[in-house]
Amino acid sequence: MTTIIDGNAVAEEIRDGLADAIDALDEAGVKPGLATVLMSDDPASETYVSMKQRDCEEVGIEAFDYELDPETPADELYSLVDDLNDDDEVHGILVQMPVPDHVDDRTVLRRIDPAKDVDGFHPENVGRLVAGDARFKPCTPHGVQKLLDAADVETEGADVVVVGRSDIVGKPMANLLIQKAEGGNATVTVCHSRTDDLAAKTREADIVVAAAGVPELVTGDMLSEGVVVIDVGVNRVDADNEKGYELVGDVEFESAKEKASAITPVPGGVGPMTRAMLLWNTVKAAAEAEGVDVDL
Ligand code: NDP
Repeated sequence: MTTIIDGNAVAEEIRDGLADAIDALDEAGVKPGLATVLMSDDPASETYVSMKQRDCEEVGIEAFDYELDPETPADELYSLVDDLNDDDEVHGILVQMPVPDHVDDRTVLRRIDPAKDVDGFHPENVGRLVAGDARFKPCTPHGVQKLLDAADVETEGADVVVVGRSDIVGKPMANLLIQKAEGGNATVTVCHSRTDDLAAKTREADIVVAAAGVPELVTGDMLSEGVVVIDVGVNRVDADNEKGYELVGDVEFESAKEKASAITPVPGGVGPMTRAMLLWNTVKAAAEAEGVDVDL
């Protein structure tokens, strides 16, 4: 029997667990605030931002919505970030990526006050994560850790293959998994587009985390019996339906399910967890900024 790991259910538990912390903040007269900055007319980015705002409102986080025309000069974005850094009602700042080409994304990420960097992408926060002293764990890999925990998957001593080495998923995922800490202590192999014989690597894994952005890259024949498969990928592929597309992961679900002891679906696996962990980081940021003790 393969367990289908239900990301929606685990995300719901995470949100419920945040309620106590939000109550504690409320008693101290603090409402956590998240500012989202959108500088794009890409429909997917617009959808992500509006979902994040809706999530905030549902749990009692104030969502501050900033939209800049994609033609806006980069300096205006930087000064908006400066203003948000100085705004006491804003505890977390999220600039939706990608930003237009005339804006240097590294400059934006460095401009955000590390104490408000709820995505966890500021170099100071990346450094702290690597050093085993994370302030904000990046939302997607943190969500994967929580999913593995909820599914009772032991990472200690496990051989894990992470497919993908991006700064937002693959690298922080690998870093979290090798930490000498709960949810870590794994032996990690990080694969990427130059990896020779990916299938030989994935076949050796107890856990595969696929984050390549390639539809159905990982197929059942690349996996060993009993493997745990976490599919981070979200890819739009043409489909004969009303929308004209459907979402598929980086794993070929049907063939992988035949081998896996547990697997995440797409959608409904990692995606909801990413959103939940953003709320988590925002509540944490508010608690730390305001000196309120919360149990997270
Ligand atoms: P990137 O494009 O930034 O990185 C993809 C990584 O995969 C790169 O390291 C790349 O290698 C590697 N890769 C590409 N092709 C192959 C291949 N054939 N074999 C092995 N490795 C390969 O993507 P992201 O990390 O941002 O995102 C990955 C996927 O996860 C996407 O589908 C994205 O939409 C999804 N995503 C989902 C989230 C969620 O909440 N569910 C959140 C964030 C992302 P190289 O470095 O050599 O180019």
